[in-house]
Amino acid sequence: MAHTADAVIIGGGAMGASVACHLARRGFGRVQVLEREALCAGSTGRSVASVDLLAQQPSVAALQVRSLRAFQQSCELYGDECGWVQTGMAVLAGADSADGVRDVVRVVSAAGGNIELLSPQAYRDIEPASVCDEAEVISWAPEGGYLDPVLLTNTLMNAARALGATLHQSEPVTELLCTGDRVTGVRTPTREIAAPIVVVAAGPWTADFLRPAGIELALRPNRHEVALLACPSAASPRISILDFVHLLYARPETGGLTVCGSLDMAAGYEWIEAGAECPTPSMEYGMWVWERMVARFPGMQRGELRKGWSGPVTMSPDTQPLLGRLPLEGLYCACGFSGAGLKIAPAVGEQLAALIAGDAAAMEALHPLRPSRFAEGQPLHNRYTWGSLG
Ligand SMILES: Cc1cc2nc3c(=O)[nH]c(=O)nc-3n(C[C@H](O)[C@H](O)[C@H](O)COP(=O)(O)OP(=O)(O)OC[C@H]3O[C@@H](n4cnc5c(N)ncnc54)[C@H](O)[C@@H]3O)c2cc1C
Repeated sequence: MAHTADAVIIGGGAMGASVACHLARRGFGRVQVLEREALCAGSTGRSVASVDLLAQQPSVAALQVRSLRAFQQSCELYGDECGWVQTGMAVLAGADSADGVRDVVRVVSAAGGNIELLSPQAYRDIEPASVCDEAEVISWAPEGGYLDPVLLTNTLMNAARALGATLHQSEPVTELLCTGDRVTGVRTPTREIAAPIVVVAAGPWTADFLRPAGIELALRPNRHEVALLACPSAASPRISILDFVHLLYARPETGGLTVCGSLDMAAGYEWIEAGAECPTPSMEYGMWVWERMVARFPGMQRGELRKGWSGPVTMSPDTQPLLGRLPLEGLYCACGFSGAGLKIAPAVGEQLAALIAGDAAAMEALHPLRPSRFAEGQPLHNRYTWGSLG
């Protein structure tokens, strides 16, 4: 029997689930999500899932602010929890990065985000366990926090299913089907599915998947290592931080744990092939992170290192996502989130579904993030790069 769908989504991570949910809401009745392994088998299941309200591109800041509201109202919007925990988020940087911090505050505020500059004393009042130099420049987003990436993805997928979408696990898409310059469906090991719309949300596998169809996206998977520290609660962070002085991030976790890691591409990051093993971080890396945590939270000296984890992120050339049409009619992608996709997942699905449905406002909003910007020689200009707010 011939299989047909209104839309096929390749990949059952947070993005695939979000696109499915919002396409279903827009009346695409038969949406099929095809997942090579299981829901959350890629980056999503290994995410730190911090929502930091750090953005320098207005288009991405808008996605963040919109998504934050979705995390806060997950039950009302999607019918179930996403594990949202509001901790507040401080960004700390040296005086040489003052312009970078002010720029983030300006861009995020303009998008409607709640963020302000904080004096070192006000920061220490909020986070007494932390030391902070008088010369440091600090932003504070009281609504920042973190969520449960697996719960979010299941909630979005269940919302999509309630509207008729279906999830097919252990079913990899092996080929795009095309006629002329139009996508007509996909092939899997067991069937062909005819569909006028195909969305590639295949995380680290995206570039390899599209290459046989003659579409080159300069995406590179990178394995990032996450450390876990167990410390007395009085000495541990109560809030989430991005620390550009010590090149470190940290957020609280349940069970007296702190999730933390490097913002320095030279430590805890490694270029990999899609699908490469993601082993437990080395003791050496754990010590690297711990030493820097102690420099910021001196009482953590009394803690102990626990087993962390690692996972793949998908870097784009300008570290901003690729959202929108690909060169074949009917073919779209949501990829290249460069280690920062979870915090925008609800709005990515909402906006991409709107774009697919022909909504002019969504087309305009996503235009800066169009995948063709690289071929057009118009990558986004970032004021700061990975690990630097200078
Ligand atoms: C260690 C780590 C920390 C992170 N921290 C943060 C953070 O603090 N904040 C934040 O916002 N983001 C963070 N991220 C990034 C965030 O998790 C990702 O941007 C997001 O999960 C990407 O979701 P996705 O759905 O695009 O990709 P994925 O979750 O990778 O999903 C893609 C799916 O596609 C499937 N697939 C691939 N090829 C095929 C095929 N041919 N057929 C069918 N299925 C296929 C895969 O199995 C996979 O399940 C972090 C990521 C990692 C790994």
